[in-house]
Amino acid sequence: IAAVIDGKAIAQEIKMEVAAEVSRMRDALGKVPGLAVVLVGARKDSETYVRSKKKACEEVGITSLGVDLPEDSTEEEVLRAVKSFNDDPFVNGVLVQLPLPQHINEEKILNAVSIEKDVDGFHPLNIGRLAMQGREPLFVPCTPKGCIELLLRSGVKMTGKKAVVIGRSNIVGTPVSMLLQRHNATVTMVHSYTKNPADITREADILISAAGVPHLVRGDWLKPGAVVIDVGINVVEDPNTKRGYQLVGDVCYEEASRVASAITPVPGGVGPMTIAMLLSNTLESAKRAYGVADVEFENAILREKLVN
Ligand code: NAD
Repeated sequence: IAAVIDGKAIAQEIKMEVAAEVSRMRDALGKVPGLAVVLVGARKDSETYVRSKKKACEEVGITSLGVDLPEDSTEEEVLRAVKSFNDDPFVNGVLVQLPLPQHINEEKILNAVSIEKDVDGFHPLNIGRLAMQGREPLFVPCTPKGCIELLLRSGVKMTGKKAVVIGRSNIVGTPVSMLLQRHNATVTMVHSYTKNPADITREADILISAAGVPHLVRGDWLKPGAVVIDVGINVVEDPNTKRGYQLVGDVCYEEASRVASAITPVPGGVGPMTIAMLLSNTLESAKRAYGVADVEFENAILREKLVN
């Protein structure tokens, strides 16, 4: 039976690491990182995500700011909000909650986020650098980074392995495939036009699924011993629950756990990692802004000065 990759526990571990660094930063510099979230409209799911991002910031000592703009805001108004956070020295991360309302050009807004504060990693310049050999993005998108972090912290080697990614979206599938390549895996993409996907996934040592299709990946889609990262968060009606629905991944967990060597559950897998990576990106940004490559090191120097 497959080992469970406990995303909730790993995310908690990362949050504690971030909290410790934030508190060292406060002691050494009298400053803490700041994250600003721009929310446009009143989508229930977006509001929930923004609320949990703000709560997570508070937990680790990151200052959270934000602006909630009405659904009928103009592009100009959204741009103005982004730019004011770009210019705010107390803000190290600027995040625009997606999706934006139909009448607003997403590309235009994402282009306006300062690349130094692009903690979501969606600015085309950061994505472009991620895609290029020998270039380093300032930030890597949070969900893909969370998937890789789960593999790293679970001791899964990527070099030389065959990895298959299901889904090719800008926010998950495509960037996670680029990250896997950076870790020297041989990557194949499966998407909605792929013929006989199971023949391809059965080759995978590492399978990352981000299709948004419940129970897409069956037990017989997997190579025995494969490592499975299930990014899918899908709402499935279930009259037997109080809420009337259930959250499931893309992977048939029961079947897969009998074939795989390790697997992430849904919920409690990739989900919590996304926010942990956002916090860690915001901390990184603050460290860059304040010119401390390593706060711990900085702190050690301070202590040294105090002693002498
Ligand atoms: P998307 O709809 O933008 O992209 C889905 C991709 O899957 C497309 O590239 C499509 O070609 C492919 N696809 C769809 N049906 C397929 C099929 N039957 N076979 C093979 N490929 C298929 O979705 P997204 O934004 O990338 O999100 C994917 C899933 O991940 C969703 O369930 C979403 O809720 C979840 N998600 C989770 C997190 C998180 O854990 N924090 C973050 C983002 C997305």
